[in-house]
Amino acid sequence: MLREPDEALLSELRAVVGGSGVMEPGETHLTERRGLFKGQAAALLRPDSAAQVAEVVRLCSAAGVGIVPWGGGTGLVGGQVKADPPRPVLLSLERMRAIRAVSPGQNTITVDAGATLQSVQQAALGADRLFPLSYASEGTATIGGGLAVNSGGLQAIRYGVARDVCLGLEVVTAEGEIWNGLSTLRKDNTGYDLRDLYIGSEGTLGIITGAVLRLYPVPRAKAAAFVSVASPRAAVDLLNTVQDESGGAVAVFELMAQRAVDFGLEYQDGARLPVGTPSPWYVLVEIWGAEQQALDTQLENALGAAMDRGDASDAALAVNEGQRMAFRGLREALSDAQTRQGGSIKHDVSVPVASIPEFIERANGAVTKLIPGSRPVPFGHLGDGNIHYNVTQPAGADRGEFIARWDAVNRAVHDIVAELGGSISAEHGIGRLKRESLVHYADPVKLALLRRLKAALDPQGIMNPGAVLET
Ligand SMILES: Cc1cc2nc3c(=O)[nH]c(=O)nc-3n(C[C@H](O)[C@H](O)[C@H](O)COP(=O)(O)OP(=O)(O)OC[C@H]3O[C@@H](n4cnc5c(N)ncnc54)[C@H](O)[C@@H]3O)c2cc1C
Repeated sequence: MLREPDEALLSELRAVVGGSGVMEPGETHLTERRGLFKGQAAALLRPDSAAQVAEVVRLCSAAGVGIVPWGGGTGLVGGQVKADPPRPVLLSLERMRAIRAVSPGQNTITVDAGATLQSVQQAALGADRLFPLSYASEGTATIGGGLAVNSGGLQAIRYGVARDVCLGLEVVTAEGEIWNGLSTLRKDNTGYDLRDLYIGSEGTLGIITGAVLRLYPVPRAKAAAFVSVASPRAAVDLLNTVQDESGGAVAVFELMAQRAVDFGLEYQDGARLPVGTPSPWYVLVEIWGAEQQALDTQLENALGAAMDRGDASDAALAVNEGQRMAFRGLREALSDAQTRQGGSIKHDVSVPVASIPEFIERANGAVTKLIPGSRPVPFGHLGDGNIHYNVTQPAGADRGEFIARWDAVNRAVHDIVAELGGSISAEHGIGRLKRESLVHYADPVKLALLRRLKAALDPQGIMNPGAVLET
């Protein structure tokens, strides 16, 4: 049975992290950005080393007090906010942002888990290397948070998800030990893979305090196009054509429904549609390599073939880096742009790539039947089979009434995902938002194993109580 920290524990914790290491949690730390959860916490702890994190965990474990790890607060499933009693302590790594070592020779970077994605990308670039994990929240989101949810992002099609770009971890266990797994090895088959266990565990098994990440050569040339495509099926065919034509050089392949792009154009001052005429679907494609002329030719050939087939009707090729970034900026604005249109019910799902067209068609039918006038806004990482299947409220409808249908809409969409052999959480995790859905859709043996792992690694149940699994 967990309890709230009392004054005696708080003063012991203060002694560990120092006066500036304890704060009253503010709105930023307690509010989830979609407004779906309002958190509560007895204190915000800001340790400055793994040793301090370990001491905090030992004290909380002995007292039976819950700990909610907090990175940049950009998670989208409520994993970083706990609404129900007893109040936990929030543990933020905002004072642990150091880049510990960059080794361009062996293509690794070792960082504190509180470092933001952007700071790691910049440190890598300073050594003429690429750190490829990238998404719109990268200026705020931390490496620890990204690893905790096993995030994906725009370049996952080429470099993989957070798990794929991580070689080693330093973790404070739920009992306050420090596991030094900061390995730089690519091959290490010595027993169960603890790294892979902590990655994606959403702070429910331990706290990631450091990581060894993989670096890659900086691509010397990039070609990008914003393409009007006839349908999701045409987009899937275009993906295969560009991969074939470029020898597998696709680094970004994003599908966007016309409505999503229209919302984005409305939202971004000065933005304009990159192609001449509106189309029901658009694709943003980038291929990366060593030689500009070769990439341009490959992309033009692929687009020409798609146009000959009738899959594509128009395309704008980026003529410089500024234009490539403008295409990308339009794609990255889509999520925030939707909030201007009223309430939206979101799904972060994946299905086999070839099933995306069927998924979108069936989901559109199901949600508009359930809520006539609701506006599906599908977009996302088509190359990974990952669609952010978002649904905006009917124009002029009551936001609250629409959001109240969240569970029913989710169920209709997730049922289709399950029938197609997909996943109800592609890259955002389970958090508190999808906990019941996990129970509903997960294989029962898997669920039992997850519960046993949690009990074995966090016997007191203090780590992020109520996230992923029920307490
Ligand atoms: C505008 C926007 C765009 C996004 N785009 C993408 C995208 O393209 N792809 C994608 O995958 N995600 C995307 N995300 C969501 C993504 O999950 C987060 O941005 C990011 O990975 C979370 O990092 P954070 O540091 O903010 O973690 P938080 O939100 O603070 O925490 C997330 C979870 O991780 C846990 N946690 C945090 N730090 C640690 C730690 N050190 N050790 C253990 N557990 C920890 C928390 O308890 C919580 O459960 C987007 C989010 C936003 C707001």
